[in-house]
Amino acid sequence: MNVDLSRRGFLKLAGAGVAATSVGAMGFGEAEAAEIAHVRAFKLWTTTEARNTCPYCSVACGVILYSKGDVKAGGAEILHVEGDADHPTNRGTLCPKGAALKDFIHAPTRLTEPRYRKAGADRFEPITWDAALDKIARALKDDRDANLITTNAEGVTVNRWTSTGFLAASATTNETAWATTKVVKALGVAGFDNQARV
Ligand code: SF4
Repeated sequence: MNVDLSRRGFLKLAGAGVAATSVGAMGFGEAEAAEIAHVRAFKLWTTTEARNTCPYCSVACGVILYSKGDVKAGGAEILHVEGDADHPTNRGTLCPKGAALKDFIHAPTRLTEPRYRKAGADRFEPITWDAALDKIARALKDDRDANLITTNAEGVTVNRWTSTGFLAASATTNETAWATTKVVKALGVAGFDNQARV
């Protein structure tokens, strides 16, 4: 039989199997099925699993977020976070920071929306993502149009944009990092780094 079983799926099955075989090993035989019926269900059994990446450092460990509730209706609550056993980077392990991710997610000080400080104002106000992206795009375009260095002193084309810097996230997938680098370098941004070096 060809069974397609992930490492995580195997661990789940192994957990159930330990309960079953332990009872059997003690010689209960036919009592096994009845005993298993009394084993409390895994508390994560009915949760929704979502894969994600730990946001802290450039190791970019894979994590599984376990939630209950309707994600689309905004009512889901994350109950548990653990390392993704199928992830090639961390294979289920997490350092102490990653292991404490649930507290980071629920921290009342966590920023969950873009904020904007108007000229002359002394505080930031929430704005929509659309408004924030429009503002960023406008500011980038205006600055690049005004300051792009197209040629050096010898007349060689360089297309350097030195008046804007770009700080990317290191805790991303290879694909996201590739796309980010392509966009930033295509624009000519010279100052480009990520939080892993900050
Ligand atoms: S779990 Fe630890 S090592 Fe892994 S990405 Fe998060 S902070 Fe980095």
